[in-house]
Amino acid sequence: MKFLFVYAHPDDETFGAGGTIHRLVLEGHDVFTITATDGSAGSILNRNKKKFEGKDIKTIRRSEYKNATTILQVGKSKILDFDDGQMNNSHIWGKLTNTIKNIIEGYKPDVVVTFENTGWYYHLDHIAVFVAVNKAVLLSSYKVKALLYNHFSALDYCQNIYTNPLEKKNITHTVNVSQLKNVKISAMVKHESQIDDNALVFIDKIKENDHIEEFELAYSTIPGEGILEDSGIFDKIS
Ligand SMILES: [Zn+2]
Repeated sequence: MKFLFVYAHPDDETFGAGGTIHRLVLEGHDVFTITATDGSAGSILNRNKKKFEGKDIKTIRRSEYKNATTILQVGKSKILDFDDGQMNNSHIWGKLTNTIKNIIEGYKPDVVVTFENTGWYYHLDHIAVFVAVNKAVLLSSYKVKALLYNHFSALDYCQNIYTNPLEKKNITHTVNVSQLKNVKISAMVKHESQIDDNALVFIDKIKENDHIEEFELAYSTIPGEGILEDSGIFDKIS
């Protein structure tokens, strides 16, 4: 099967669904990850700022994305040329949606995965990608078999920062990636410039606990949601 994961910034894919992405690859599925921006509006969050002095943030984040997706063994990954932190209605009603629609029509994924509707913690780039992906899936001449929203499991651990009281996690499917957590953590730390204290807490919690990645089936053209059962890794929550 073919899976297309669409996010906003380098690191979203790994922090949100790195274990699932790697597990799909190991099980022989074709995985394509896209990030709408290169994350270059972000700052260096790593405490060791000196290590990054004099380096261009665009270069750093592009290289981190490449290194992390290489660890996850993603077959195909792409950074689109939208500006980080600048997502707006014209993107949603125009180029961002059209670009994602064209990718769906070209790649023909069975399943598309993106953010849930609150963009994890009300990040407007994330919410814009959520809207654009929904529109692109509906407008595409190629009909995907399922659309999944990825919920952010770090919210369970870092609520002091990522308080999101309105998010009702309507999780329908989970993927247990406990056996692969070392791979996920290795990919996470490749996004070195983004490893702040919250990320360190998240990494510690992943190490200490079983690690489950969470999804919500938003749309399926297969009766009985069988498309995800076919993939063999998505456990249905009844
Ligand atoms: Zn992000």
